[in-house]
Amino acid sequence: MPELPEVETVVRSLRQPLIGRTITGAVFPTDPGRQVNLDPVLIGQRIAGQRVEAINRRAKYLLFRLSADTLIIHLKMTGHLYVLPADEPNPFDRWVRVRFPLDNGQELRFSDSRRFGRVYLCSEPEDVLPDLGPEPLEDDFTLDIFRKRLKGRKGVLKSLLLNQAFIAGVGNIYADEALHIARLHPQRHADSLNDDEVARLYMGIRQALADGVRYEGASINWYRKPDGSRGQSQNHLRAYRERGDDQPCPVCGGPIMTIRVGQRGTHFCPTCQT
Ligand SMILES: [Zn+2]
Repeated sequence: MPELPEVETVVRSLRQPLIGRTITGAVFPTDPGRQVNLDPVLIGQRIAGQRVEAINRRAKYLLFRLSADTLIIHLKMTGHLYVLPADEPNPFDRWVRVRFPLDNGQELRFSDSRRFGRVYLCSEPEDVLPDLGPEPLEDDFTLDIFRKRLKGRKGVLKSLLLNQAFIAGVGNIYADEALHIARLHPQRHADSLNDDEVARLYMGIRQALADGVRYEGASINWYRKPDGSRGQSQNHLRAYRERGDDQPCPVCGGPIMTIRVGQRGTHFCPTCQT
């Protein structure tokens, strides 16, 4: 599933073609069912004539601030957003769930093979978004704040990092990466960390995500940038491994181990992460 670095890359790529443009409607080729929060006809009527003022990210959600409303999209597993001339086909069109025509003859399309993605139109994003923790790459997310949020937490680190209410935007790949950088075992309990280990975890989260953004996300499964090209983060992973990938730990050269933590495949180096 796209995580913070992948969604951030999509947001940055969509600003140039979309900001300042006016959306002229919404076309759903098939019944979107539970993928939308309003009747699809109503979405088309309500969004028509609204200008794209800003595009931002909150956790793994894309937020398109429009003249009157906010369009919120979650890519989930197989969501893909791209902008093309309205008459230009694309291989992702096979799974297109909604098209937003623009005033310049182009079109924003949302393709989603598995249909887990979400498209919400609302006046108040807070009404739609769940409880989300702080943005880990923001300047105001300090070590001191992280320390305070960690206080009283008892769960294992891997599960805690995946908890969006604790910290926003981290998923399976970057949780494994953060713990490898921090040299912490994924099954360590949050209340067992000393001051130095908390500082390492804080740095690990920030560095794993910042590297992910720098390399424009990990194109391991479905994720592609809006222009269809791949991110490069998959070539710089420290611990996260796909099935069958037995590359050793880049630090010690030992084997990476795979275990299950809270039902999620978890990858770590038993030598470096204690
Ligand atoms: Zn190692």
